[in-house]
Amino acid sequence: MATFTRRRTPPDGKPYRWYKGCLRLDFECRCAYCLLHESDNQGPDNFVVDHFRPKARFEQLERRYANLYYACQLCNRTDRKGDKWPSPEEADRGERFVDPCSEDWEDRVEFLEDGSARALTPGGAFSLRTIGLDRAQLRIHRRKFPREYVLRSVLAAAKRRLKNLASLVSANPAMPAEARSELAAIQERLARLETVVLAAWNSKKPFPPEPICPY
Ligand SMILES: [Zn+2]
Repeated sequence: MATFTRRRTPPDGKPYRWYKGCLRLDFECRCAYCLLHESDNQGPDNFVVDHFRPKARFEQLERRYANLYYACQLCNRTDRKGDKWPSPEEADRGERFVDPCSEDWEDRVEFLEDGSARALTPGGAFSLRTIGLDRAQLRIHRRKFPREYVLRSVLAAAKRRLKNLASLVSANPAMPAEARSELAAIQERLARLETVVLAAWNSKKPFPPEPICPY
């Protein structure tokens, strides 16, 4: 699953800043990269419309909604994401920007109890380093809201491990029925925990003015 799912379908071709209202809704009022909610970051004036593939290199994508992401100004600074894009050599090494519209941040970067961020993949490492996802401001913020960051990371890791265990169990016909029933019980508990974590994630309201997207 991806961190964000686009539900709005505005037509392409308008000046890119026009899409900000739709992006606020599709990105749940959070920065696509550091995941900070606009209500914790001085509202939408502190957020911009980012080109995932930078417009300086991918001119044809400048007004394409699917290439536009909601990002906080600090992540999108010119010395961070800005117009950067991995070189062919970096891409060969798997170094690229994590795309939160097609993959889960939680599978690429882990947030720890002290608020720090640790890369789990080469793409996670490239994103973390380039966008500065371990900066002091974010560490402090994550310590303040552990359910939105640390708990999501721990939950994602537990789900990955449980998925591996489930395939091992299902591939072994000799596994006793008790083991299967214990596994199902753990899966059920994790699903309940996920409900609590998602409620924390979804509890924040948009900062005024309300986002508007007619599509
Ligand atoms: Zn950000």
